[in-house]
Amino acid sequence: MWVDLNHGSGFVYGGSRDRAVSDRINGLIDAALVDRQRQQQPRDYLGGSRIGEPCHRKLVYELSHAPVDEGKGFDGRILRIFEAGHTFEALSIRWLRAAGFDLRDTGPDGGQFGFSIAGGRIRGHIDGAIVAGPDIGIAWPALWEHKTLNAKSWSDVVKRGVAVSKPIYYAQLQIYMAYMELGAALFTALNKDTQALHHEVVPFDAAEAQALSDKAVDIILAAAAGELPPRVASNPDFYLCRWCAYAARCWSATQ
Ligand code: SF4
Repeated sequence: MWVDLNHGSGFVYGGSRDRAVSDRINGLIDAALVDRQRQQQPRDYLGGSRIGEPCHRKLVYELSHAPVDEGKGFDGRILRIFEAGHTFEALSIRWLRAAGFDLRDTGPDGGQFGFSIAGGRIRGHIDGAIVAGPDIGIAWPALWEHKTLNAKSWSDVVKRGVAVSKPIYYAQLQIYMAYMELGAALFTALNKDTQALHHEVVPFDAAEAQALSDKAVDIILAAAAGELPPRVASNPDFYLCRWCAYAARCWSATQ
């Protein structure tokens, strides 16, 4: 026997009432995520994932914990995207292991593998290392890095390769290989719209890694000295500046 849940209850399912409920719940979720984010200690080091950022000044702002412009902090939507990325990464790990790759994402203590140099001022935490697996033309162990991308971004990586399409990720791979002493990386990109996977072998480029390491030291020294490196552009309309969370601070500075 079916029970008519609407009948006589006074509730009408669907429409503006449900939208109000949905907005209310989403507001609570996002407030909880933002609150949790605020309680986390800000990084007091330059992360390997950020060294490829093209604007040196932006990296100094980040490292110095300069406040972002009003309304430019992480909101609930961005935090949900970050967290969903971790879940997709766990799926990719499971699929690669099922395919025979011995992928290690945590050490004996349960923490991520990583490195810390320059007195802890430069650090990185890798997604994993593959220590054995099917023959894909590289020697094991190899670095493994994973990114979850939307369909447009994923298609561009497939078409142009990670070095051209995503230079910040490429720099991350090079820095991680350098400091983890690994000769190659397997970069995996997951299309979060379709769950299609792209895998790309990236060889270690010692010259590129050295240049990135030198850049990281420059950033640390500039931040320690309270100096602001030159802007990446001569005009605030430059595409990187239009997206930058420090744009108002940056372009109102006298130097
Ligand atoms: S606004 Fe432009 S120049 Fe200034 S920190 Fe941001 S990216 Fe760099």
